[in-house]
Amino acid sequence: MAIVSLVCETCQNAIDGYVGQSVSDCRLVWHRSLACPHCKTAIEEDGMGMPPYELRQAILAQEGVWSLTIWETGDRAIVATKILREAMTLSLSEAMKIKRKIPGKAIEGTQAEVTWLARCLEKRGITSCILPENRK
Ligand SMILES: [Zn+2]
Repeated sequence: MAIVSLVCETCQNAIDGYVGQSVSDCRLVWHRSLACPHCKTAIEEDGMGMPPYELRQAILAQEGVWSLTIWETGDRAIVATKILREAMTLSLSEAMKIKRKIPGKAIEGTQAEVTWLARCLEKRGITSCILPENRK
């Protein structure tokens, strides 16, 4: 869980919220919760896929950047790229950028994101390796 600084929408006081990500089967899920000590407003939110930008930045800053390395070549590298493109709903040019990095370090993201992608790949028989990049 990472902590994010927020402003309470009800009373406008600065408060802390909590954000996290999890992987359930082959789906990436994010959640955010806040409980305002001033006005007792409580909000729980969650969603599928990539979290909103500020939440993701907080998770990366506090939990570190992780990488996904794929050692496949030829047709299997193309299959791996297709799986990643589908999972992350990438444009063709974004997918091609990733394709050029395979074999090698293809993706950087939060621990939950690379774990999620590794599971999507594993389901289709592609092995990958998850490593911390700048763990604090
Ligand atoms: Zn409040």
